[in-house]
Amino acid sequence: MNPLETLKELSSQMSFEGDGEPPFDTLRRNTSRASSLPRLSSPPPALRLNSGQACFSPKEKDQAFVHPAQLPNGHKILLLKTLLSSACERDCFYCPFRAGRDFRRATFKPDEFADLFIKMNLGGLAEGVFLSSGLAGGGVRTQDKLLDTAELLRKKYQYRGYLHLKIMPGAEKDQVYRAMQLANRVSVNLEAPNTERLAKLAPHKIFIEELLQPLKWVEEIRRSEPAYKFWKGRWPSTVTQFVAGGSDESDLELLTITNWLNKNVRLKRAYFSAFHPIRDTPLENKPAVDPMREHRLYQASFLLRDYGFDLEDLPFTNESNLPLHADPKQAWAEMNLIDQPIELNRAEKRELIKIPGIGIKGAEAILNARRMKRLRDLSSLKKLGIIAERAAPYILLDGRKAITQMKLF
Ligand code: SF4
Repeated sequence: MNPLETLKELSSQMSFEGDGEPPFDTLRRNTSRASSLPRLSSPPPALRLNSGQACFSPKEKDQAFVHPAQLPNGHKILLLKTLLSSACERDCFYCPFRAGRDFRRATFKPDEFADLFIKMNLGGLAEGVFLSSGLAGGGVRTQDKLLDTAELLRKKYQYRGYLHLKIMPGAEKDQVYRAMQLANRVSVNLEAPNTERLAKLAPHKIFIEELLQPLKWVEEIRRSEPAYKFWKGRWPSTVTQFVAGGSDESDLELLTITNWLNKNVRLKRAYFSAFHPIRDTPLENKPAVDPMREHRLYQASFLLRDYGFDLEDLPFTNESNLPLHADPKQAWAEMNLIDQPIELNRAEKRELIKIPGIGIKGAEAILNARRMKRLRDLSSLKKLGIIAERAAPYILLDGRKAITQMKLF
């Protein structure tokens, strides 16, 4: 296989892996933005011969190697998501790369991948990279290959763009430290919310020692080492991913561990990937999970992370799941605000952001506007970017129930 064929093999099953914020639902692929790429300012001489647009035929440029992603700072990039190797010695029940599954495996050596990615970067095909791998020869050996690749990118090729490195199950603490020195983001996929649930998905992964521990190490390192020692003088962010519905776990279980991670290891975000069966795996006959469940989990996780909600505020059903038909913020407001609407001219920010239709920016806009004048009608809220119709049932404006104004509005 030539390097592009290898990349095609390795990238074809990676679209389920999460990165960016929000998840890949708001952006469209746009290769015309190549001029804004984080390129090498001066490519090393060895690269000049083969780099640039000429390396890739128009057909190759159309290959879906890259995925649009929005970084936490709002910057939109074309992200190459791939594996260093699709060979894996583990047998996770849900995974297309599990040992023994019959398909063509492919592997890059670190220098092969680094060379190819840099050409793609220079050719305008990829602005960032998310690099993971199947496990071959244990977590430590596999992690070393990922780290060697990252080191080539950063040191030999002076690549300064976005790099997300996966921490392998079984990696050691000094490898986590090295990853933090090279990457903008590191991640460990927990897959399931606890040991018992993980056993239903990945019988040879060890929840506490192999998966949770590296996330704790990242936080320990952040607390003990100054940020300037890490990539671009910042600690990398950490994320994780769960297979939602893969182990018959409840939403409460998923959100309990997410909430714990937010508070204890400063998780940037949790990704939820609704389970869908893969042919020729032990779970191939398990029904796919409704993608709306994924959506509700994201909404609830943002309420926990950014909006001051506690787990007990969320509208869980008797089965400890979020109702699929209801936005969790709206469901909370129906139970708590409909009879006790919030006076927008007095409310604090923490109260404002709990009102449907008012986000963090909207709450700040209300606080700023209140310094100038009292808010008396829904039209003044609309001017502040508030979704006034959604907020109306739960607010008072100068002592009057805003919902009554809707009829005149
Ligand atoms: S270790 Fe990773 S690549 Fe290997 S089977 Fe499990 S999830 Fe798949």
